[in-house]
Amino acid sequence: MSMSSAPIRVEGLCHSFGRGALEKQILFDLSFEIPAGEIVMVTGPSGSGKSTMLTLVGALRATQRGSVKVLGEELRGARSGKLERVRSRIGFVFQQHNLLGALSAVQNVELGVRVGRRRSGARASAYARELLGDVGLSERLHHKPEQLSGGQQQRVAIARALASEPDILLADEPTASLDKKSGRDVMEKIRTLAKELGTTILLVTHDIRILDVADRILHLEDGRLSRFSDAAIENSRRLLRTVVDNKQPQPLEEMIAELDERGMRDMLADMAEEAQQFIESIRMASDDTVLGMLFRALNAFAERFKTLMHVERASIFLVDHADESLVLRVAQGTEAVEGDLRIPIGTGIAGAVAESGRAVRVDDAYQDPRFNPELDRRTGFRTRSILCMPILDTDGDVFAVAQLINPTDGRPFQADDEKRFAGFLDSLSVVLESWWSMANLGGGDTDE
Ligand code: ADP
Ligand code: MG
Repeated sequence: MSMSSAPIRVEGLCHSFGRGALEKQILFDLSFEIPAGEIVMVTGPSGSGKSTMLTLVGALRATQRGSVKVLGEELRGARSGKLERVRSRIGFVFQQHNLLGALSAVQNVELGVRVGRRRSGARASAYARELLGDVGLSERLHHKPEQLSGGQQQRVAIARALASEPDILLADEPTASLDKKSGRDVMEKIRTLAKELGTTILLVTHDIRILDVADRILHLEDGRLSRFSDAAIENSRRLLRTVVDNKQPQPLEEMIAELDERGMRDMLADMAEEAQQFIESIRMASDDTVLGMLFRALNAFAERFKTLMHVERASIFLVDHADESLVLRVAQGTEAVEGDLRIPIGTGIAGAVAESGRAVRVDDAYQDPRFNPELDRRTGFRTRSILCMPILDTDGDVFAVAQLINPTDGRPFQADDEKRFAGFLDSLSVVLESWWSMANLGGGDTDE
């Protein structure tokens, strides 16, 4: 088996269904390469062409245009003998398990072992038992598929697919019919066994709960591969939706608006935990839909700060490093302000906080030379006391500044207010940081 080149190389792959006037192109100029031993997941909306792509790579369908090289063999124009040879080195797992109903679990897996032609007779049988043990089914060897749960059947199917010790495993939504826990278990099995055997894996899924197992994610949209950055946006959009859906079926901003102080902390902690998983891997391009949603959520947070901290106005500035400036993103209570206000870092109170990374409390803004009355002038608002806090990223750099203005009881801010607000910002910072990285970093990574 040659390992000198990637086991899967796709170049300029196009595919159409139908003929003549009814011809419809499904895949457009796909190119990617999967090195040996990598786990690559394909995400994308239903109908985007994921299954079609998988069957082309699996030599289950004739390649029309472009090149599909699998295990060193060009599949386009290949004769059936060659296609069969390639197929025999691939393990398949489909959404429906496709086990043979008349055979027991161990017999189904034995079939897989025989396909691999590396073991026969008693050795094949022993190996089948061993694999079933690996997927946690030692106690179910002689059960027929119908006597097993959906998750157990899927695990048998995985054992069967791996039984031939394939060079490549192709899986189409293998966890779709499974509950959350079995889905994860199945994925863990696939990963462990595959890493042991050095199997290259291409797996279609829209189960976001297993994406972290992937070495890489390909995202298909309308038959086109998008950059990883776009895929990450899609994942994070789903993640945010999941966070919301898991709680209550209502828009994020409404949900935030209803939370009391305790609920807000819980939710922030929840979101922070999930967002954390993304921070390391996310390098995102901007995307209007996502950003729109994120800024609406930011607005909702600011609105909440206003109520919980009892202030007249809450604002959030984001640091734009390219421009050495702060961008006013959210200014609750200042409906008059439209569009971005930019403040050079180092000037003004928020600018000073961005520069020093330290909180600033001001009793009377008009007595402070750093105060810039520009916003007041534009809005007819009268700023008195200010509490301005840095939001730090994991490197300790300021990437945003949160500002509260005028406690509603008319007194200036106290040290106590600062402590309370810092508590909120701690949890919020993780969420904000991941979002801001989405907004800020034009993705440079491509899939190639
Ligand atoms: P996905 O797996 O991402 O949901 P598919 O690859 O199954 O997408 O399908 C992509 C598109 O191709 C869909 O519009 C689907 O209706 C169409 N399609 C899939 N298989 C066939 C077929 N055999 N004949 C005609 N159209 C098909
Ligand atoms: Mg499909």
